[in-house]
Amino acid sequence: MKGEYGIIVCTNCKFAKVVDLNNKTTKCNHCGKNLKISKMKIHYKTNSQSEASWAVGRINAKVRGEEFDIEEKEKEKDVYSLAIEESKHGSNKKDRLEIMCRILTKELGKIDREDLNKISKRGDLGDVDYLIKNIRKLEDVYEPEHEVFKSV
Ligand SMILES: [Zn+2]
Repeated sequence: MKGEYGIIVCTNCKFAKVVDLNNKTTKCNHCGKNLKISKMKIHYKTNSQSEASWAVGRINAKVRGEEFDIEEKEKEKDVYSLAIEESKHGSNKKDRLEIMCRILTKELGKIDREDLNKISKRGDLGDVDYLIKNIRKLEDVYEPEHEVFKSV
């Protein structure tokens, strides 16, 4: 079936990723390990790419939550975690993205792909491409350079 997405968790670094289930192998975006899709547990299956992005965030948060719970709590909060925490006050996904952008703009001056990568790994807001796509839809965030964002 065309456009069937699955979510696997890398056996090496435990980061979840979306894979096209028509493919045989994939490479972990996080640690670079080559993975055989047929040998992997499929944690989630969907035909929708945006749903897959959402699910990756959830699974990463869950895996990380179990493994790094204590470690995370002891660590000093960084700006990304702060932005994610604060974004939870938003009543919907759009609100959450706006809050996240506002905090990152305030703390970092601007937001780039690397920042969004950190956001996507720490929270359940979605993967980088999903974040960029949806940040572009926000009215109070502009894009002064390609994939560089600022809240007004
Ligand atoms: Zn990996």
